[in-house]
Amino acid sequence: MTVPYEHLREDFKILQQHVNDEPLVYLDNAATTQKPEAVLKALETYYHTSNANVHRGVHTLAERATTQYEGAREKVRRFINAPSTAEVLFTRGTTTSLNWVARSLGDLIIEEGDEIVISFMEHHSNIIPWQQLAKRKGAKLKYIELTDDGKLDMDDAREKITEQTKIVSLVHVSNVLGVVNPIRELTDYVHDKGGVMVVDGAQAVPHMPVDVQALDADFYAFSGHKMMAPTGIGVLYGKRKWLEKMEPLEFGGEMIDFVELQDSTWKELPWKFEAGTPNIAGAIGLGAAIDYLENIGMREIMDHEQNLVAYLMPKLEEIEGLTLFGPKKASDRTGVIAFNIDGVHPHDVATAMDMEGVAVRAGHHCAQPLMNYLNQPATARASFYLYNTVADADKFVDALKATKEFFIHGLD
Ligand code: PMP
Repeated sequence: MTVPYEHLREDFKILQQHVNDEPLVYLDNAATTQKPEAVLKALETYYHTSNANVHRGVHTLAERATTQYEGAREKVRRFINAPSTAEVLFTRGTTTSLNWVARSLGDLIIEEGDEIVISFMEHHSNIIPWQQLAKRKGAKLKYIELTDDGKLDMDDAREKITEQTKIVSLVHVSNVLGVVNPIRELTDYVHDKGGVMVVDGAQAVPHMPVDVQALDADFYAFSGHKMMAPTGIGVLYGKRKWLEKMEPLEFGGEMIDFVELQDSTWKELPWKFEAGTPNIAGAIGLGAAIDYLENIGMREIMDHEQNLVAYLMPKLEEIEGLTLFGPKKASDRTGVIAFNIDGVHPHDVATAMDMEGVAVRAGHHCAQPLMNYLNQPATARASFYLYNTVADADKFVDALKATKEFFIHGLD
């Protein structure tokens, strides 16, 4: 390994603590990630040196804040290889990004009887906006089935996506199954049928190289807080040909050109969509997070997570009574591992593991249709990131075994 992963932890003060008298092993990265000193420092420096409102002022601080905010947009553009900053909108996060598309694109192109296609592995934020759109317009919402090993069923995808399909919205990496979906192949198919492709990239952009031009998706959404940036900042990438035709969803300051008594005109892209004072510090923090990730390298981060999964899988498969969800092959997935111990509720699993200092999540992971599909009321989930080490993986397995023993003896 070229990156000294043991030393990376030093960049994260929060990871250097004990929880329940045990060194913290943080494995809830799919929910949110920790922030390195470099990101915290960028926020502090911004507030110490440059805080002002953007775009409106000619004074020095206003110019500095604007330069840094727009500089962050350029960093995002480069990071995902978008053709222009006009196509990079700052939002509150993936949820807002997907809601914007469902509302604004939905209003533009969906008519009664049209079809919208998603899949059974979607997060609620890539289900409910489409349900609402379908209800509003009298459209039909269809779900692509999954294979037994937790991948998208591509045969079913080809059957469900038809000439009637106006929008397809799919997750790039599932927050439960960890599976990486073949977005480019799907996008080509959707475009062949005349549809628009939307991608929920919340669990992809933080963990692997993402090139929106190579994927050719029409829209791509993600959140800053899952990639070491602060909460409250996210991105919607959209192709200019769509964004230009779409109406903004919020109206007010910053997004206008001219305001008359009965009518107004909008600024050009991307500002037409960004009404009001934006999350300036959040965007700058996202820029700093991108610098941090790029310094390590996205391919390197993906390899690191896949190596951890490859290391863990055989150890987990040995544990009797443990059900694992998602593909078995490490190369098909990122560092998200959902699991259940027979006869033990996942909340009890997460509570017992917390006693060992291991932070995992339990619940439906905002994916109730997927839980029903898997026939599980809930699952436990460990999700790894670049600061997790082989020692963390070992501690996870040990804590899992101890948890299982504890509950089996408790039930005897
Ligand atoms: N989609 C996926 C796949 C996610 O994992 C999440 C976050 N759990 C979201 C969407 C929503 O992201 P946010 O809460 O940051 O808007």
